[in-house]
Amino acid sequence: MFFQKEIETMNRRDLEELQLKRLKKMVDYCYNNVPFYHERLNQAGITGDKIKCLSDIQYIPFTTKDDIRDNYPFGMLAQPMKNIVRIHASSGTTGKPTVGAYTKADLDNWSDQVARVAVAAGAREDDIFQISFGYGLFTGALGLHYGLEKIGATVIPASSGNTSKQLMMFRDFGVTGLVATPSYALYLGEQLREAGYPREDYKLRLGLLGSEGCTEKMRDQIEESLGLRVTDNYGMTELTGPGVSGECEYRCGLHFAEDAFLPEIIDQETHEPLGPGESGELVVTTLLREGMPVLRYRTKDITRLTYEPCACGRTHARMEKVMGRTDDMLIIKGVNVFPSQIESVLIGMEGVGPHYQLVVTKRNFLDQLEVKVELLPTAPLDRYGELEAIQRRVHDRLKSVLGLETKVTLVEPKSLERFQGKAKRVLDLRGE
Ligand code: ZN
Repeated sequence: MFFQKEIETMNRRDLEELQLKRLKKMVDYCYNNVPFYHERLNQAGITGDKIKCLSDIQYIPFTTKDDIRDNYPFGMLAQPMKNIVRIHASSGTTGKPTVGAYTKADLDNWSDQVARVAVAAGAREDDIFQISFGYGLFTGALGLHYGLEKIGATVIPASSGNTSKQLMMFRDFGVTGLVATPSYALYLGEQLREAGYPREDYKLRLGLLGSEGCTEKMRDQIEESLGLRVTDNYGMTELTGPGVSGECEYRCGLHFAEDAFLPEIIDQETHEPLGPGESGELVVTTLLREGMPVLRYRTKDITRLTYEPCACGRTHARMEKVMGRTDDMLIIKGVNVFPSQIESVLIGMEGVGPHYQLVVTKRNFLDQLEVKVELLPTAPLDRYGELEAIQRRVHDRLKSVLGLETKVTLVEPKSLERFQGKAKRVLDLRGE
């Protein structure tokens, strides 16, 4: 099933021709309408007619999160405010939020892109979707909201929080689809199991999860506890929001909306372009966006692309699930560590749950990584020897996966914080 079959299955040559045409137009559009790009492109000596093939994109300067921040709030806009109909923003971890501005056409394209992701994942017009993302400035909730309405599905704008009400609506409204962060879905599953409601009271079948990473094992746990099938989707405010890429039912990478977003992979140190299958930083150019276009935006997400055909018939490139952001990457005693690596170790282990916290400190000029792991309620809390054995197993597995010595602390069941939005699991105290 497709939402826009002619675009989603376009042959590669036609698709690349379309991308080139749109890229040239976009470069001139940015040059003419955004003073920031006018200056940057002038310095680089680039105009649309100098772009002869897609690989000429490498002559366009990058745009970084700092550039967007420096032009806060509206310096990156390419349209006067009278043509902007919506503003979103994502809260940055430091300082000012990142703003997104949308024209009417942007909102229309955006909901098409989300609708494609939803249909590719298996959503249909008779589905009832509960959106348990927090509403507000965040692009996730309204992005999925309009995309799902566009395919004719029923949307319940539940927002996050009030877990018992969420479970009640699942049951009373006959909800078939869930939109949430993986960590909140995991929590809802835990609560559902605890409430002891019979599974046949629920019609849940599909989870469209996003806005943070999700390991395969975490996905298995969510699927098992909620009784649904999970697909992953990807996006960010700087690039509109969700709908940039999403998994089809084959779940072998996230199809990129290549008619609207031109992806590249670069080496994050040398900035050299990397080929298909090579892992590096994802860089994206918007090809259709009017309100706030970006050229070669450095996402800081580490992934790779494949252009091999997919069994579903879609021809658009597939992006590997993002397992780490250069931002999330911790450097501990010179070793690169992604929280997702730790998560995948913990989720497979007996006696401990998927909830954890990482605390990084410096002692005598040396980095220390403490991994706080929550015990499952079934763990033998009163038998010290067995707890010690669990701790040793976690320690040894982490050491072999990370190549790093860690301090493992077991904590009581349900003592670590639960998250309804993006999980914040790292506490880096080295700067203090
Ligand atoms: Zn596919």
